[in-house]
Amino acid sequence: MEIKKIYPFLISCLFLAINLFAQHETSTWTDIQLQRLIDGNKRFTDSKPMHGNQTRERRSEVAKGQKPFAVVVTCSDSRVPPEIIFDQGLGDLFVIRTAGNIIDDIGLGSIEYAVEHLGVQLIVVLGHERCGAVDAAVKGGHAGGHIQNLIEAIRPVVEKEKNNKGDLLDNSVKANVQMVVKQLNSSEPILKEFVHEKKLTIVGARYDLDDGVVTILH
Ligand SMILES: [Zn+2]
Repeated sequence: MEIKKIYPFLISCLFLAINLFAQHETSTWTDIQLQRLIDGNKRFTDSKPMHGNQTRERRSEVAKGQKPFAVVVTCSDSRVPPEIIFDQGLGDLFVIRTAGNIIDDIGLGSIEYAVEHLGVQLIVVLGHERCGAVDAAVKGGHAGGHIQNLIEAIRPVVEKEKNNKGDLLDNSVKANVQMVVKQLNSSEPILKEFVHEKKLTIVGARYDLDDGVVTILH
């Protein structure tokens, strides 16, 4: 009698445990890795960086092979170094930087390598406040040399933002990030497939030059 009463209770406990485990599994590895970046940025803005993974031991460890936990696509701007603003160390981040954080085929190839061969499951596209490259596209005009290529790549985003309320430069910075997120999500044949199979998450973010805070864009 006693066992009969307790049996359904045990069964429901088992189901609850399985459920919780499954939920944990789906609230995923990439959530944990994104949190790792957010936590690192918090340490940076609190002026309490750990400078983790910057030891001689870490150098020896990663000399044998790399296993970065995230790709960061960001601007070449000297004020936005990913390892510093996310308080990460050697072998943690696979970084692609161009002025205006825009991506061409070479950049795509670099990202595909990180995803397909190094097993990275999280990409953060990080724009920043008062980005000079985006500002050049906002101001228009003609720049010399290959700088014009950068401006042309960003200009369509600026054109779309012109009728929206708020600060055109900051709106364009965010829209430019979203454009690159979209570009990566739909990039064939590799990234699109990984995203489709839920093996890859791509998020956009904005870095504030004044207070150092990284905000995830939704
Ligand atoms: Zn910039």
